[in-house]
Amino acid sequence: MKVTVGIEVHAQLLTQTKLFCSCKLDWQASQNSLVCPVCMGMPGTLPVLNKRAVEFAIKSALALNCSVNTTSIFSRKNYFYPDLPKGYQITQYDKPLAQNGFIIVNNRKIRIRRVHLEEDAGKSIHTDKETLVDFNRCGVPLIEIVTEPDIESSAEAVEYLMKLRQILRYIGVCTGDMEKGNMRCEPNISVNMGNRTEIKNLNSFKAVSKGIEYEFQRQVKALENNEQVTHVTLLWDEKEEVTKPMRTKETSEDYRYFPEPDLPPLVLKESRIEEIRATLPELPETKISRFVSQYELPEQDAKILCEEQVMADYYESAVKICSLPKQTANFIISDLLAVMNTLQTSLEKLTFSPAYTAELLSLIENGVITRKTAKDILPELIEKQESPAKFVETKGLKQISGGDEIENAVKKVLSQYPAEVERYKQGKVQLFAFFTGKVMQETKGKANPQSIKDLLLKNLG
Ligand code: ZN
Ligand code: MN
Repeated sequence: MKVTVGIEVHAQLLTQTKLFCSCKLDWQASQNSLVCPVCMGMPGTLPVLNKRAVEFAIKSALALNCSVNTTSIFSRKNYFYPDLPKGYQITQYDKPLAQNGFIIVNNRKIRIRRVHLEEDAGKSIHTDKETLVDFNRCGVPLIEIVTEPDIESSAEAVEYLMKLRQILRYIGVCTGDMEKGNMRCEPNISVNMGNRTEIKNLNSFKAVSKGIEYEFQRQVKALENNEQVTHVTLLWDEKEEVTKPMRTKETSEDYRYFPEPDLPPLVLKESRIEEIRATLPELPETKISRFVSQYELPEQDAKILCEEQVMADYYESAVKICSLPKQTANFIISDLLAVMNTLQTSLEKLTFSPAYTAELLSLIENGVITRKTAKDILPELIEKQESPAKFVETKGLKQISGGDEIENAVKKVLSQYPAEVERYKQGKVQLFAFFTGKVMQETKGKANPQSIKDLLLKNLG
């Protein structure tokens, strides 16, 4: 049996204020402190469209390869719910802002049916005894991004969402923070082109994956038992890991959509759309291919470096200084990310500048220090925010190559391990690595690996 998935995403736009009034956006503000007569839907108030939200929505639509309509219409979607004081949501219905886009996920095209602008509703907070409402979120600008049913597995759904989030972050319109509800996903699932069900309330990639998987199995079982799959909206129960029916799916008639009488059509000049297109940064796909061709990196490395724009920028700034593209990529991926992980810091907060990374890599490249020394001192360098060259100088960490110091260390090690030397001579050549390690220790990691090798070979006869 074949599963078909379409996904609806609501992404919160990073504007300063709400979509139709000047109330601020601040998820940390105390409940019901960011409200005004407009977002509370008081009689006689009028909505005024947030220009920045429109720009962000257009930017998103263009980044998702959509065509932006020069005229789109706001509509009222009427429904009753405690967290919706107006009794309707201003959204876009038959004439959305943009349509017919796509993004590429693992070489497959996932078509985007539409991208439209709408306002968020408030939040209901359920406790044991009662339900409370917080209206701060009423009127917060969202874009809704709807795919065609092109997704063929739960894994692909997650990859699509990660790709979408990456693009929205690159263009700076949404934090994509699912835990905070800044990006909310509602997949709809059908098996063998049958009726589809929609899951609400998914706020993590894990929940998306498990929810789709659960729903797929449930529908397969129903079909095998000759039961009908009904068109319903389901809730995902995070604890029990099951879907539960929430309501039978409303049809659009239930919402009595009609054009919002208080807002004129949103008319955009072609030239304005092109102006916004010109502000789009280089997007992940393009950046990855450029990194592969320009810096001759393996695709996997390019993907890691381009995961976030700040990391890609960090990489390029460092390479610009040291001209060591391969080494810089390896260093960031295997050393820097690991240390940052241990120190629980992010690239944004990292005070170890790209210039310092470049300096450190040049020290290795020019034979001043070994790669091992670089690795060892990295946590301290990051902590002290010191110039690597200066640090190496004051700590006397310069690499030693050839000369008596290494030879003495080699001789010392060989005399300390006569039994191992004997076994080596009898053919146990794996012991070479053991001797190398011991000499490295003896020289505090400063010995040039090639010199150790040469001198060991010479002394072992
Ligand atoms: Zn307001
Ligand atoms: Mn919506």
